[in-house]
Amino acid sequence: MSGLRGEPNTPFLTSLVNAGQLTRVEDAYSVCSFTYCGLLGILSSKYRHLITLPRWNVADALKVQGYETHFLLSGEHSSYYDMRAKYGAGVDVYMDGEGKSVESGDDQVMLRALEATRWSTTQPTFLFMHLMAVHSLGRHLPAYQRWGRPGASLFSAMRGPVVRANDYRDRYLNGILQVDDEIRQIFELLEHAGVLRDALVVITADHGEYLGEFGRFGHEYWPYEPVVRIPLLIYDQTGATYPTRALTSQVDIAPTFLHAIGAPLPESWVGEPLQYASDRRAVIVGSIEVAGIVEQVGTRRYKYLRHRNTGQESLFELTADPHEQRNVLTDPSLAGILASLRARSRLIH
Ligand SMILES: [Zn+2]
Repeated sequence: MSGLRGEPNTPFLTSLVNAGQLTRVEDAYSVCSFTYCGLLGILSSKYRHLITLPRWNVADALKVQGYETHFLLSGEHSSYYDMRAKYGAGVDVYMDGEGKSVESGDDQVMLRALEATRWSTTQPTFLFMHLMAVHSLGRHLPAYQRWGRPGASLFSAMRGPVVRANDYRDRYLNGILQVDDEIRQIFELLEHAGVLRDALVVITADHGEYLGEFGRFGHEYWPYEPVVRIPLLIYDQTGATYPTRALTSQVDIAPTFLHAIGAPLPESWVGEPLQYASDRRAVIVGSIEVAGIVEQVGTRRYKYLRHRNTGQESLFELTADPHEQRNVLTDPSLAGILASLRARSRLIH
């Protein structure tokens, strides 16, 4: 793991990888390009078009297994798409960032809440934390400003195009450095509470981020690689193994938790536990307007995207063209692959 400038900016996570304590799952995709379906994709093991009521999620499923469930979420989740309600009735202890600090994306509030957590002595616990340090709206602490011009802010990042690109990237890199240290603090607190030893910890993101690719900054927009490729890291000291697979999706995370405790998977979930080898060759990605499929065919990986309203289509051969610069929709040698992806994409409503 290294930053865009070639300097490592995840010292804690890298140290865990080097110590053999963290499994990196490569080629992981978010279900979509924005927060709403990214979070619900993680929690309820569903692609965006399958997220409907009732959303039986991992908190509900673990509660049935006797778990106490805690959600500590930096950022505004109550007013954003009414997410608090969408997390459902299975959440026992809930805190989000609304009204808790001058900035709702202040991760320090959630770290203090974790420090004050009263861990049940009779029940196992599921903890879901959402950190905002890498988000443009997160609270960025001066201690982690390694890159960029002193005093550069989100507002300066939104000025002229050149200044904007550099400041936006620097701010993002600083945010990764900060969140790495926040994760270090979380591990310390879990260790201190005596719960880390038996814990399964999954570190991931609800989506990626545009840092100038396709002329974009931030997230949402078409589900190109920068915004749907996500980190997926597993800390598990129980001896479980995590076989390499061609493609992984956020929908696999919730099943991984249930599999770890031997619990059955809800019928409505579409993910596969990461402890299993998988022969799945395709995952679904999307945005509000765009349906997409990423598919591995032999040693080659393709991505097909189709705008639901305009019908605009793209086909990329990601293995040779990872930055999605050449639309090969009309390449006659790919007609068969295109026909298959096009037909299947029409089933994504
Ligand atoms: Zn988000």
